[in-house]
Amino acid sequence: MYQPEYQPAFGGSVALPAPGRPLRRVADGVARALADERQRLADDLAALHRATTVGDVDLDLGTAIFTRRWWMKAGACAGLVLGAGWAALQVQPILPLLPPGFTPVQLEDARPHMIAPLALGGRTGAGPRVNARLLRPLAEPPERPRVERSVTIGSRGLAAALRNAGVSSGDVAEVTDLLGSARPGGGVRAELVLGRRETKTVPRPLESLNLRAAFDLRVEISRVEGALTIKRIPIKVDSTPLRLSGPVGSSLNRALRSAGIPAAQAGEFVRQMRHVVDFQRGLGKSDRYDIIIEQDRAETGEVRHGKLLFGAIMRKGKTPVEIGLFKGEYYLGSGEGVKKGLMKTPVDGARMSSGFGMRFHPVLGFSRMHKGVDFGAASGEPIMAAGGGTVSFAGWHGGHGRYVMIRHNKELATAYAHMSRIAVKPGQSVRQGQVIGNVGSSGLSTGPHLHYEVWLRGKAVNPVSLRFIGGAELSGRALNEFQRQMNRWRALPTLGSAPKSASSTGD
Ligand SMILES: [Zn+2]
Repeated sequence: MYQPEYQPAFGGSVALPAPGRPLRRVADGVARALADERQRLADDLAALHRATTVGDVDLDLGTAIFTRRWWMKAGACAGLVLGAGWAALQVQPILPLLPPGFTPVQLEDARPHMIAPLALGGRTGAGPRVNARLLRPLAEPPERPRVERSVTIGSRGLAAALRNAGVSSGDVAEVTDLLGSARPGGGVRAELVLGRRETKTVPRPLESLNLRAAFDLRVEISRVEGALTIKRIPIKVDSTPLRLSGPVGSSLNRALRSAGIPAAQAGEFVRQMRHVVDFQRGLGKSDRYDIIIEQDRAETGEVRHGKLLFGAIMRKGKTPVEIGLFKGEYYLGSGEGVKKGLMKTPVDGARMSSGFGMRFHPVLGFSRMHKGVDFGAASGEPIMAAGGGTVSFAGWHGGHGRYVMIRHNKELATAYAHMSRIAVKPGQSVRQGQVIGNVGSSGLSTGPHLHYEVWLRGKAVNPVSLRFIGGAELSGRALNEFQRQMNRWRALPTLGSAPKSASSTGD
């Protein structure tokens, strides 16, 4: 049987538990060890007692006072005390063994190297005192053989930035010649090195100039045998347009911005879509946008965004509304211009009651030119602006009664007469479809109707004969070309799906 070696704790031996009655045997061993220990302590106490009372040394001064024996004991005590004092004086003190302290001058020199709080006189890091006898003043400070500078081109252009950096006019002119048509814009950084000069009165010569002259071009200008030479290093640019798609959420503009579309392109998307999608009735949160913008990515990491190329709004249960850029204008997938012409009917559900042209005037009683068309409508029906523009007149206008004129562009204006109420002020800008007033019968009128005029280049024209004023429609070859382009855009892979793409578009 395995029995580990065991060191007893009480000097005696403790019997190891044997098989059979282990507990009883342990208790017996402990009791025996305790008894042994008690006996040993009793022996020690007896020995101590003998040593202090029976021994030769008895220095008890509390008994038998002033006897001869007491005087001897007192003398022995005094001797011990004096002996101890004398011995203490013989011990060498430790402090005088240290090297002597700094002199004030040495301390001043050492201060910069001391690690001590300022309050205690530490001057860590301050320059050590220099031996003035070793200093010799220079006639003039030495010049660095070359000066490296980094300049950022400001709004005044590269030449001004170089002149500010100390480049001579001659060198600036030479650089401008070398760059030719490349005109680096504001914010571009240029690294330049100015070389050694003969005297201090002349500017340092330009040794080298490195800069991004254009998005896709880096140039290195350097001085070779006295003359500046240019090295053009093209930068590879990937011009794959950026396509993003995501839910409209609570705000289309915000959704586009958070997806990483720059403000200008996001604004353009919303502006164009406003013409073809009814934002008034609200886009649903689950409706989706799809957008493609021009994007150039340089191999050096810079990204540049360009025009809005393609946009789409996908509304639940409706066919997607797609617009595309073609020759500077936006068109719907069908080829119809996004910027629509004037609304055909400025009053909802009204029918035309009188056409344009010569007619017998029911109130005046003679024939005259009818410079607009009349729409029969109930009094109080809202009148909408036929197109976006600026209110050029709003008020009473003779036989027209309450009259509003809206200027849409340099050539085109519309006017609305006989209104019962005017809801706009002169100078106010209005959107297409915005309510500008209500149908009435003010002025020379036989009953409530809207008299509607269209003015083109200062002449009243027949609104019915106008088609696509201010708008356009693609047809034939142009339409084919546009639709091929739209198909290419539709096939472009989507980079990401917002809002996940928001973080991945920044690279
Ligand atoms: Zn009329």
